[in-house]
Amino acid sequence: MRPARFQHSYASDLPDRLYARTDPSPVSAPRLLELNENLATELGLDADWLRSPDGLELLAGVRFPADVHSIAQAYAGHQFGNFVPQLGDGRALLVGELVDTNGKLRDLQLKGSGQTRFSRNGDGRAALGPMMREYVVSEAMYALGIPTTRTLSLVATGEQVYRETRLPGALIGRVAASHIRVGTFQFLAVRDDTAGLRALADYAIARHYPHLADAPDPYLGLLNAVVEAQARLVAYWMLVGFIHGVLNTDNVAISGETIDYGPCAFMDAYHPATVFSSIDRDGRYAYVNQPRITVWNLARLAEALLPILGTSVDGDDDGLEQAKAAIGSFQARYETAFHEGIRHKIGLFSEQPGDLELAADLLDLMARNGADFTLTFRGLADEIDGVGPVRDHFIDPTAFDGWAKRWRERLARDPENTPDRAARMRKINPKYIARNHRVEAAIVAATDDGDLGPFRRLLSVLACPFDEQPEMEEYAQPPAHEERVLQTFCGT
Ligand code: AMP
Ligand code: MG
Ligand code: MG
Repeated sequence: MRPARFQHSYASDLPDRLYARTDPSPVSAPRLLELNENLATELGLDADWLRSPDGLELLAGVRFPADVHSIAQAYAGHQFGNFVPQLGDGRALLVGELVDTNGKLRDLQLKGSGQTRFSRNGDGRAALGPMMREYVVSEAMYALGIPTTRTLSLVATGEQVYRETRLPGALIGRVAASHIRVGTFQFLAVRDDTAGLRALADYAIARHYPHLADAPDPYLGLLNAVVEAQARLVAYWMLVGFIHGVLNTDNVAISGETIDYGPCAFMDAYHPATVFSSIDRDGRYAYVNQPRITVWNLARLAEALLPILGTSVDGDDDGLEQAKAAIGSFQARYETAFHEGIRHKIGLFSEQPGDLELAADLLDLMARNGADFTLTFRGLADEIDGVGPVRDHFIDPTAFDGWAKRWRERLARDPENTPDRAARMRKINPKYIARNHRVEAAIVAATDDGDLGPFRRLLSVLACPFDEQPEMEEYAQPPAHEERVLQTFCGT
């Protein structure tokens, strides 16, 4: 039974230049490696059907049901600061949109599905490893409660891709609130397509921020809403030690979801300058730079929107000032989200003067003592219960002792001296993150031996990152020195 019908609002509501109708390119021997059944259900897709030969043809991009009109989407983007007027889905196809069980429209995109009109070079395919990384990390992000695209399926193509070496090919089904990026607006702006900008802004508002439709200046509202969504998103990343790796404007979603998992990673030992991506030589997208690079990206969105800003009914022409104010509001929005988050991470659910210094001092000591980001915060809950091993994460454990004394004094003064503080902290500070060495080991096992066991175990552990999973303790641990994976590579 084919349970859901695809919609194609993107193609029907938006100018033709924003997409190219693109048929699937068959692969020889597709095999379903993993299916996200919960997500399938959420999308109204029948898992049994997806596992059937017809379902596999869809997920593999071999042949689509007759009512599907797949497209590759066009966008532009600043890549490492350099503007490229035409990018676009060079190895992805939008199958269509589905109404999920919450009544929300979600995109189903295949990534790794073959060449399109927007493939500048490359085979349009993807290797198994990067597709597994996107699957694991996006699902881990979801389980952490952070807005993200999700992964429905992992399919081996049965073919090989040629990178530095021959690798098994694969594609994923990616599910997103939409694939509208900052770069999608830039694509229209650079072509002076004001009517297109208006259509895209209207579409984005209807899809993501419908309450703005009746606002006096909906486009300014859209800009502010994206600034707010991105400020929160980056704060969430910072609070779990996530480094996106390629924060180009084409990888910034208007919906506020994390999108395009390439050379991304969670840090083990905390250091603000951490970079994993092999192509990020100057550390443009280092952990600590993520808020300020996001402001930069949002300023590019504001620029793209300028032609349609400040055109409110009363004839004001102050679009530029309003755009500047919107971008200027990022820092305060980010700080609000980050400061609240970091206070909660150290168990301070009420606010007192000095709290932020206390948190900042902990981060500083962690950086200087190579302390594991995740386990240090997680361990603070155990400290409260009197069984804390936190000091052991510090090269100089006495550095932590000094801080902990101040922290305990602060806790003692807390008006909200809740007995469930430790439990609340454990719901905020995950025990399990997608540690890079585990992701890498899962990729190696699948690529070299066709063994998906480690991948599945990792997915299962990361689905409940805040729960104690005693039999999975090893997944909580940072890598031994020789297990460390210090570089991640681009989506190849
Ligand atoms: P991504 O890593 O998916 O964000 O890709 C960055 C850009 O390079 C996008 O425009 C992709 O469409 C393009 N690209 C990446 N890998 C390939 C490939 N194997 N074939 C064609 N285009 C690619
Ligand atoms: Mg159209
Ligand atoms: Mg991208």
